[in-house]
Amino acid sequence: MAAQLLQGGPIAVAIKEELNREVERLTAAGVSLCLAAVQVGQNPASAVYVRQQQRNCEQLGIHYQLHELEADISPDALADCLGKLGANPGITGIILQLPLPEGMDTRRMQAVIDPTKDVEGVSPANAGWVVYGRPRLAPCTALAVVELIGSTGIDLYGKNVTVVGHSDIVGKPVGLLLLDKFATVSICHIGTAERGELADYVGRAEVLVVAVGKPGVIKGAWVRQGAMVVDVGINRVGDKIVGDVEFEAAQERAAYITPVPGGVGPLTVTMLMKNTIEAAKWQRE
Ligand code: NAP
Repeated sequence: MAAQLLQGGPIAVAIKEELNREVERLTAAGVSLCLAAVQVGQNPASAVYVRQQQRNCEQLGIHYQLHELEADISPDALADCLGKLGANPGITGIILQLPLPEGMDTRRMQAVIDPTKDVEGVSPANAGWVVYGRPRLAPCTALAVVELIGSTGIDLYGKNVTVVGHSDIVGKPVGLLLLDKFATVSICHIGTAERGELADYVGRAEVLVVAVGKPGVIKGAWVRQGAMVVDVGINRVGDKIVGDVEFEAAQERAAYITPVPGGVGPLTVTMLMKNTIEAAKWQRE
């Protein structure tokens, strides 16, 4: 039987209605939300993300500032810019668009972002809160994955979850957030694949989350019968966007599967908006 599609769009619409009400409440309390995005040089992928941010902020009545910096800006000058945004009481959220130009130390810059304005959850303090099991502002894509899984009503207690990919913004935080729900989490990466063990880990997963960035890296035939498959990957193949999982074959075995596009993607920017509101509330504590 073909899997039920797990689509992010309808969930995003429902969350945005609640966010609208939150913005109204904050505005009535005299809080003006302003998200500042810092872009260093030009990058087509981040340009798409910037447009999504602008559109979503506009819909919710959140001010949006884009700070475009030259690609050859010095690390000290970029750190200074981020520090000033952190100190500016008129700014309630900060995004540093990635990737940064080659040679720039991304982690150093993320560490400069005021944690209470770090709406992408990339500062060491916010990563630490996720490790502590008390997330304040967690990475948006990881939150989107958890939201999608939660929308099915599944009880994760003791369930086998396999996360493929161990990036700071997806694989690692997804693994930790699901661990907090008492799932038994395996996090796989290139080392797992090179040992030839990826199929084993995928095959035991009752919930499979894949964030690799390689089309078809997860074979449909590996997927456990009745599993939930969340495919975070976004890959352009010819004129199509596809995920990391062989969709048609996986769909035959899974109970739930995210389409790509239309699964995690629509929820990620919604989670960014949610974090923008949470950040403003945190600053008022
Ligand atoms: P990333 O930082 O490049 O991480 C990819 C991960 O996959 C790394 O942990 C890497 O391990 C691992 N990996 C590489 N080849 C592998 C293989 N053959 N088998 C198992 N693991 C392998 O990427 P990311 O930022 O997490 O993004 C992953 C994908 O998600 C991309 O397609 C990206 O476009 C997409 N994405 C989507 C959204 C959304 O909203 N839908 C948001 C963010 C990202 P090593 O580092 O050890 O090589």
